[in-house]
Amino acid sequence: MLARVTGHQLRLFNSLGRRIENFAPSADVVGLYSCGPTVYSYQHLGNMRPYVFADTLRRALRWKGVPVRQVVNITDVGHAVADSDTGEDKLEVAAAKERRSVEEIAEFYTQDWLQALAALNVQPADVYPRASTYVDQMIEFAKVLEDKGYTYQLPSGLYFDTSKSPGYGTLAMMDIAGQREGTRVEIVEGRKHKSDFALWRAEEPGVRRIMRWNSPWGWGAPGWHLECSVMSMTLLGNHFDIHTGGIDHRELHHVNEIAQSEAYLEDGRPWVPYWLHNEFILLDAQKIAKSAGHTVRLAVLVEMGYHPMAYRLFLLGGHYRSQLDFTTAAMDAAQVTLRRLVTRVAPLRPLPQVETLAAAVSLLGIPVDATGAAIGGDAAARGAAYDQTALAYIEAIDAAIANDLATPKLLATLQDALRDPDITPDGLKVVVAAADALLGLRLSELKPAEVDQRRTPDDLAPEEREEIERLIAERTQARMEKNWARADEIRAELDALGVEVTDTASGPTWQLR
Ligand SMILES: [Zn+2]
Repeated sequence: MLARVTGHQLRLFNSLGRRIENFAPSADVVGLYSCGPTVYSYQHLGNMRPYVFADTLRRALRWKGVPVRQVVNITDVGHAVADSDTGEDKLEVAAAKERRSVEEIAEFYTQDWLQALAALNVQPADVYPRASTYVDQMIEFAKVLEDKGYTYQLPSGLYFDTSKSPGYGTLAMMDIAGQREGTRVEIVEGRKHKSDFALWRAEEPGVRRIMRWNSPWGWGAPGWHLECSVMSMTLLGNHFDIHTGGIDHRELHHVNEIAQSEAYLEDGRPWVPYWLHNEFILLDAQKIAKSAGHTVRLAVLVEMGYHPMAYRLFLLGGHYRSQLDFTTAAMDAAQVTLRRLVTRVAPLRPLPQVETLAAAVSLLGIPVDATGAAIGGDAAARGAAYDQTALAYIEAIDAAIANDLATPKLLATLQDALRDPDITPDGLKVVVAAADALLGLRLSELKPAEVDQRRTPDDLAPEEREEIERLIAERTQARMEKNWARADEIRAELDALGVEVTDTASGPTWQLR
C-alpha cells in the first residue's frame, strides 16, 4: 500500500475581491494584524469572536509550518462615540460616568479583556500596542499625508480627502459615488465628501479634552482609523500579509485604513494583500441579560456554570463567515458536547505534542521530507507499519482547516475518529492531539468534573444516567466475582465522568462532584 500524503493548499476567503484564494506568504514570517478592542467597557461575547477567529487562523498557519507575528491593538484613545469623527471620546465618557480616570478605565477593561482571551485559550499576540503611546507617530504619519496633498484642514480637524484616493472603497465593494455622497449621516461642517474622515480631531473651542496632544493642527486627539495604519506599519513593516477584524470593519474602518496607508506609501502596491473578516454573533441578549442582570460577557457565562471552552466550542461549531445565533439552548448543547469530548478523551492521556501536519504524520510512523511540504512515501515498500485509519483522519483534518478554516468539519472529523472502531489507540491519540492543536479546546488537560462543576444527577441527559447506572451495575458484578482489576477500571472510568461512588450496606450510591 502506498502512503502518500500531500498537505492541502491553505485557501482563505479574501474580502478584497470576495473570493477564496490560495494563501501564499510573502515573507518568512507572516505579519498578522488584528483590530483590537476599544477599552471603555466590558467586551461582550460577540466581541470575543474576532480573537478566537484570528487565533484559529494562527493555529492553521502553525499547522502548515508558517511562522507568524501577530499584532493586536488596544484603542485607549481616539474612538469617538458612535464611530463618528466628532464628539466625545468613548474613554472620556466612560471615565466621567464611572468617576475614574481615563487611565484607570483603560487599564481595568484591558485587563478584563486579556483575562477573557486567556480563559478562551487564545494564544497571546506578540505585541499589544496601546494607541495612546503612538500619538507622535500618528502625527508624523498625518504630516506626510498633508505634504502629499491628501488632506484639508477644517476648524474641527484635519481630514483625509477620499476623492484623492483612486481605489477608495474597493474593499467594501462600495459604489464610490454613492458612498461619497450618501451613506453616512454625520454632518461635519465644511467636509468636502461624506466619506472623508478625520486624521486629527481638534478640540472644540472652549472644550478641553482630557486626553490631548499638541499638533500642527492644534490641540486635540488622533482620529480612530489612523492608529491601526501607524501601529501595524511600525510593528510589522510597511507591507504585511494578513489583516483581520469583524465584518463591520470591512465597510468603513478598514476602507479608511487602506486609503490612508496606500496614500502614505504611494508605491503602487496593495498595502495588505489578504483581508479576512468574521461574521457577527446574534445575541439572544434579552434572555441572558435578564438572568444575569448585566452585560453578556464571558465572566457572566462562567458564573452561570458554563465552561469558557464551551463558548469556544460554540464559536468553532459555526464557520467564521457565518452568523451564529447565541442562545442558552446552543450553549447548553456546546457544554454537553464539550463534556462528552473531554470524558471520551481523558482515558487517552497523555496526548502527544502535535502542532503541525508534518509532526502528526511523522508520529504515525510515516516518513516526512525535510521541508514538510510534501510528506509520505512508499512506507509499505520499506516494510513500515502504520495506522492507515488514523492517517486518513489526519488528512481529513488537514483538508478541513485548509478549506478556509472549516472548523465545523474539523469537529465532526474528530467526533468520527473517536467513534471509529478501526483506529488504533496510538493513532487516535495523534488524531485527537492534531485536531486540538487547531481547535484549542484544551483536550489534553481539561478534567470532566472541571467542565461541569454544578451538575446534579437531574442535570444529566437520560442516556448519561443510564450509562452511569450501567457502569455501577457492572462494577458491582465485578466485585461479586472478585474481579478487582475490572472493578478498579470501572471506578476510574466513573471518576473521569465526575461520578463519586460510595459503597453502603444496602449497595452503592453515587453523586456528581
Ligand atoms: Zn483597526
